[in-house]
Amino acid sequence: MRIHKDFAGGNITVKSIQGDTVCLQNELRDTAEDWFYWAFCVEGAEGLTLTFKMQKNRLGYFGPAVSHDLKKWHWLDACGSDEFTYHFTEGEDKVYFAHNMLYHPDRFFDFAKEKGLTVETLCTSKKGRNTPCVKIGEGKLSIILTARHHACESTGNYVLEGVLDELVASPIDNCTIFCVPFVDYDGVLDGDQGKSRVPHDQNRDYVPDKKSIYAETDAIRKYADENGCNLAFDFHSPWHKGGRNDRVFIVQNSLEKIDRFNLFGKILEDSITSQSLNYQKANDIAPFVEWNKPSAQFSVYMTAKPECDIAFTLETAYFGVPDNKVSQDRLVELGHCFAKAIKDYIKERAL
Ligand SMILES: [Zn+2]
Repeated sequence: MRIHKDFAGGNITVKSIQGDTVCLQNELRDTAEDWFYWAFCVEGAEGLTLTFKMQKNRLGYFGPAVSHDLKKWHWLDACGSDEFTYHFTEGEDKVYFAHNMLYHPDRFFDFAKEKGLTVETLCTSKKGRNTPCVKIGEGKLSIILTARHHACESTGNYVLEGVLDELVASPIDNCTIFCVPFVDYDGVLDGDQGKSRVPHDQNRDYVPDKKSIYAETDAIRKYADENGCNLAFDFHSPWHKGGRNDRVFIVQNSLEKIDRFNLFGKILEDSITSQSLNYQKANDIAPFVEWNKPSAQFSVYMTAKPECDIAFTLETAYFGVPDNKVSQDRLVELGHCFAKAIKDYIKERAL
């Protein structure tokens, strides 16, 4: 039997194996606070029943996300608070377990190919990889879409895919869409937490008049400065679980633009279908409430641009709740609904 992290997104340390109990710990790496992301693969355990013990706050409401191919994910739907038990059937020679449903970059490349989108290189990452971006359409209105400013936050990618899917099927007139699906591309592939990196993470790298330390954020700023940014949406996952973190919510970042946030929220609420992960405007977080203080975030940087009408972070839960449960399809459908809301908002605001 082999327990390892040798795949895109892998993150685990095996502390001990005693009988059929495996003790695991996730790797914080350069994250300065306690964080919860992990993902590992078990090979060669056919016929065994193993219990995996984790630290506190590492498992969601429905146990681990489980996959056999890193493409399709489902919840195990059984776990204790900090451990889960899995029976490996005959022929089940490779199983992936993770904190959340991973979004493999290959899924994005396959999606882009299927939709006839050309994947370009935004920049070379710190580790020498080509960080991807795509452009859709051409026109005066400039929309910027991003995900994975925080490496571990995969729900944002499913939502983003749904947004792009809808906007390709039914384009916005006279509009250029610029999309960076994996801002922290190295972190996504290496399985980093990405959140609260030292000295700061990618979503604290937008300090006006100060050069970014990450090539990706520098390139995004350059694009926005050269091409303008009328609307910008940054797709994230919130904290692990509990309260608002179990929901979908908009992080309102400007008191001056509060009416616009409320308008978008209302339109989005009206756009949600029964196949989508639900969104309710009441869960949005107002500026200066709890942790929502302005900082050097992508959305704050874009909001402050004179030509920008609205820019914000959408947070989408990792797990949801029993009557509003996360699945890959429901996240993508949320993206479809979100794209429809963008279109209706543009009409309402006459942009
Ligand atoms: Zn985030």
